Amino acid sequence: MITKEDLVAALEIATPLFEKLQSLYQRLPDTRCDCEQPGVCCRFLPEMTTLEALQWVKVLLDLPDDELTEKLRTFVEFYFSNPARLTGCPFLNDGGCSIYDYRTFGCRAYGLWSQELGNVRTTESRNQKKTLGAMWKRFGVDLPANVVEFEIDYCDKVDTVSGEDVTDAELMDVLQQIYDLDQPLQELQAKFENEYHSDFSFLITALALGMKKAILEKFAVIKEIIQKGSEDRLKKTLEKIPPQVLR
Ligand code: SF4
Repeated sequence: MITKEDLVAALEIATPLFEKLQSLYQRLPDTRCDCEQPGVCCRFLPEMTTLEALQWVKVLLDLPDDELTEKLRTFVEFYFSNPARLTGCPFLNDGGCSIYDYRTFGCRAYGLWSQELGNVRTTESRNQKKTLGAMWKRFGVDLPANVVEFEIDYCDKVDTVSGEDVTDAELMDVLQQIYDLDQPLQELQAKFENEYHSDFSFLITALALGMKKAILEKFAVIKEIIQKGSEDRLKKTLEKIPPQVLR
């Protein structure tokens, strides 16, 4: 279990590394996108390293109390409801990213990978969702087909501003260097990857409610949404979340 105190201690180590993280991001080319549905690629949370998760903790801590509370509740809502509806990244705002400078490598590299690699990842993601749908079915819950089957095929709408292509090898090299920045954070990294599956919304929810309740309550909330069409339980849970979850 990761505690608020663990995050405070980790931020001491992480803060000097944020500059290096940003300089690695700058090795990625500027992109533009001519999608008719801006933000459709932000339906889910991006994959992230532990340092990138801490960068998001810092973004949240820099918010005033009222905005922090609202954002924490949005993350908890995302965690609870994403198997039942297409919620969207909590930082998505009117089709745009509200934390553009702090978006993760996964967000920045989206649409830059080769079609070959993109297709492999899409297939993996489809299979993971089928497995998730089957798991919920074993618990007596049929997830909505539009959520289980939602997948974005390879995106060909993203171009580099310079017109120059970037190779998978170049992207992998940047990603590896970003991943290597987690080394001084190994203890936290092991917990974030193994206990939280690198899911930032799970981390926030477990901080707010405790790990056990976060898991058990998810089943209750999803059942109520899908089987009764009600979000009362979810709303009551969200109302209790204060900014002190992170402060
Ligand atoms: S951080 Fe920004 S770019 Fe990344 S998924 Fe969220 S809204 Fe989209």
